[in-house]
Amino acid sequence: MKLLVINAGSSSVKYQLYDMTDESVLAKGLVERIGMDSSILTHKPTGKEEVTEVSEILEHTTAIRKVLDKLIDKECGVLASVDEIQAVGHRVVHGGEVFKGSALVTGEVKSEIRRLFDLAPLHNPPAVLGITAAEKNMPGVPQVVAFDTAFHQTMEEKVFLYPIPKVLYKKHHVRRYGAHGTSHEYVSKVAAEYLDRPLEDLKIITCHIGNGGSLTAVKGGVSMDTSMGLTPLEGLMMGTRSGDLDPAVVTFVMNKEELSLSEVNSMLNKHSGLLAISGSSSDMRDITDGMAEGDPNATLAFEMYEYRLRKYIGSYAAAMDGVDVIVFTAGIGENSVVVREKVCENLTYLGVEVDPELNKIRSGEPRRISTPNSKVEVLVIPTNEELMIARDTYRIVQENQ
Ligand code: AMP
Repeated sequence: MKLLVINAGSSSVKYQLYDMTDESVLAKGLVERIGMDSSILTHKPTGKEEVTEVSEILEHTTAIRKVLDKLIDKECGVLASVDEIQAVGHRVVHGGEVFKGSALVTGEVKSEIRRLFDLAPLHNPPAVLGITAAEKNMPGVPQVVAFDTAFHQTMEEKVFLYPIPKVLYKKHHVRRYGAHGTSHEYVSKVAAEYLDRPLEDLKIITCHIGNGGSLTAVKGGVSMDTSMGLTPLEGLMMGTRSGDLDPAVVTFVMNKEELSLSEVNSMLNKHSGLLAISGSSSDMRDITDGMAEGDPNATLAFEMYEYRLRKYIGSYAAAMDGVDVIVFTAGIGENSVVVREKVCENLTYLGVEVDPELNKIRSGEPRRISTPNSKVEVLVIPTNEELMIARDTYRIVQENQ
């Protein structure tokens, strides 16, 4: 079965075409600047040259039609006909409490996703645009939705509730939902396979650290706790997001600086984190370069980032009463030797011991960076959210045939 995985944002559509007989990627690409002056389609067929096309693409239906045109193009295409695509999988950020796993798209499923717009106003509406656009371009082809929140629906009430008046949970669904669930689930499964141990027996801390970042305590294969909350602002210090702070800071600063709701929201989401402390960049490469050059602001940003990450690892080891495996993934987790080194250097009380040489190797494959003596396995596992969505789509379409 060939299937298309789509990740639709408000002005972009990312895609990957899979052949599920061997889970190979036939082509992938990105449409950017949808609705703006000149939209850009970048298409990369496996084994062929990448092509880029600039044209006016005003909305998502046209964007997906252009993608399908590329997939069947004589030069850069990989299919003889669009009819070869037998299913479509979509990434959806928020599944609320309704979706505890991926689901086949029906009218009712789309209505549920719409009802969740309040909880993810920036992310869920474009996902529905993506679904509708795929339906229009490929009528009758089954579609599946995979939610970033679904993996975390196993959290217990004592974990997901905030200690604020309960009526806010009842009226407005205020609780912890988490994010990056597809990635946390994927890397925890790969970790168990790599170690050749049953997932059910393992206590794993998965560190998905990229521009956004979250940690999950995966106990026996299920999410027991995760650091992102009602929104992706809670938890770790991130590229431009503050992560945890005293909630009173918000009202205090709003009062002192006379900030509106949207201004304070923008401050915490777009002007905080590494960017705010370094004063120069939200990118960990710039931060570590600055630190190597002796920039005190970059050094402070790095130290705060590492300290806060390490505190979370410690709290999840406490939450699970131990930890067998720590997994690093996403942009920083997969690439930053120094972040992994400094975090693990200070986890000796857990028996963590990282081999500095293994830590330096770059391979793009799952690998161990801990020593044979380490009491905790430390792994670097490249995440692959698209493959996870493709697998779910394949399974659900098979089950519903
Ligand atoms: P992501 O959001 O997963 O794409 O991760 C993006 C972040 O990964 C960037 O903002 C960088 O800070 C970080 N990153 C990517 N490559 C490297 C690298 N070689 N060393 C350190 N950080 C990196």
